[in-house]
Amino acid sequence: MSVLVTNIGELFTGDEVRAGAAVVTEGDRIAWVGDAAAAPDADERIDAGGRVVLPGFVDSHTHLMFAGDRSAEFAARMAGEPYTGGGIRTTVAATRAASNAELRASAGRLAREALRQGTTTIETKSGYGLSVDEEQRCLRLAQEITAETTFLGAHVVPAEWAHDPDGYVDLVRGDMLAAAAPHARWIDVFCDRGAFDADQARAILLAGRAAGLGLRLHANQLQHGPAVRLAVELGAASADHCTHLDDADVDALAGSDTVATLLPGAEFSTRSPYPDARRMLDAGVTVALATDCNPGSSYTSSMPFCIALAVREMGMTPAEAVRAATLGGARALRRTDVGVVAPGARADLVVLDAPSHLHLAYRPGVPLIHRVLHNGVLQ
Ligand SMILES: [Zn+2]
Repeated sequence: MSVLVTNIGELFTGDEVRAGAAVVTEGDRIAWVGDAAAAPDADERIDAGGRVVLPGFVDSHTHLMFAGDRSAEFAARMAGEPYTGGGIRTTVAATRAASNAELRASAGRLAREALRQGTTTIETKSGYGLSVDEEQRCLRLAQEITAETTFLGAHVVPAEWAHDPDGYVDLVRGDMLAAAAPHARWIDVFCDRGAFDADQARAILLAGRAAGLGLRLHANQLQHGPAVRLAVELGAASADHCTHLDDADVDALAGSDTVATLLPGAEFSTRSPYPDARRMLDAGVTVALATDCNPGSSYTSSMPFCIALAVREMGMTPAEAVRAATLGGARALRRTDVGVVAPGARADLVVLDAPSHLHLAYRPGVPLIHRVLHNGVLQ
């Protein structure tokens, strides 16, 4: 079945802003994009009523596979306690105790919540199981939600391995990876203070690559360190967070295919300084925006919220932020079929109840999502 989306006030394709455009979808693909006056006929018609049409958002970094709640930890942080990452172990205990049905319901609710806010492609990670069986279980359940699943056995060292972190690294790159790899597209490591060092991260990522997984890295979130440089050196698809960078890090990213995925929900929720997106964009770094949705450091599934933060706090223009939330996210997942409105791309469109993409940052916190077309199906 074909659908003509017409009377579009502004079409944000991911690359450019067009006026007077129309879009035709055929099944789950975009079939045609061009001037409305030249639009071909279609079986059905959606009148956008002068609203802006965008690609569906691509949220390339989330942690949806968890149980439990850490609102008390958030409250304590807002009362002045620092964020350390140690609260991850609280979620590990709750996740291990949860049934498949509970995990499925919780992750499914968050994925639907994201879709209602315009996210039509979502990546999600394991990382709250931290044993061979639990990591595999979380990835199997994650596959029910998305094809973009990431093995994050190296999130933190679980309590039962605290006496032998290198023994845990061997488990992650050995039996745990073997159990996880059939259910994952990517492998990720939290390479930062209180988590894994660069040598440990390198060993795990190289094992993941040998098992056929693509590479991503939690890099330079809590302090400056070697993780961004490691991501570039290993050709990772994405270095995520990039909050503490020196000039050499920025140059390395700019000269690479590694995307800098910025997660301003984490800085918001931990009351920390934001990454300097302006500096990265000016240096030629490809930037993505994602939510980092997780119960500890960024419990938001809202890409519009992250766009508003990126504009207000990180020096991005509204157009740069929307591009980073669509095309940038697609690049961070090495996808060419999402994050754009172009013939052949997946028919994932968002219609905002606004005349232009500027309103995503101009009207923060306002539910602007009017319609979502996902795989060609009106939600
Ligand atoms: Zn994360």
